[in-house]
Amino acid sequence: MKCPFCSEEINDNAIKCKHCGEVLNQSAFNNLNNQYSRESSNYVPEDDAIKAAFDKIDANNGKFVAEFNGLALILGLIWYMIKGMWAKAFILFILVLISGGLLAIPLWIYCSFAGYYDYYLFKVKGKNLW
Ligand SMILES: [Zn+2]
Repeated sequence: MKCPFCSEEINDNAIKCKHCGEVLNQSAFNNLNNQYSRESSNYVPEDDAIKAAFDKIDANNGKFVAEFNGLALILGLIWYMIKGMWAKAFILFILVLISGGLLAIPLWIYCSFAGYYDYYLFKVKGKNLW
């Protein structure tokens, strides 16, 4: 068949065009990506709350899911450091300093909702930053 995006000849079963890189079958492409990320990371969630949050993110094709994290609300950036996300914690901490502390409260709230997702990026996707 011909790619609908660039009209080059491609395999009938292609998930992604090899010429222009457009995704031709979004759901198959997402499945492939998810399988790859969870299997290749060899990561086993250390508690049920993290596992539940990661399953939701997987179900959303690895995209952001706001999932409340009580521990991160209490600990904020300290939770990030405990989990090994030093680079992210450091940048967020600098932001608090630059803002003269103004960003501290919004940031703590951010940590409590984005903590699991940031941890997912860190553990499953291997990203230290965003
Ligand atoms: Zn193409």
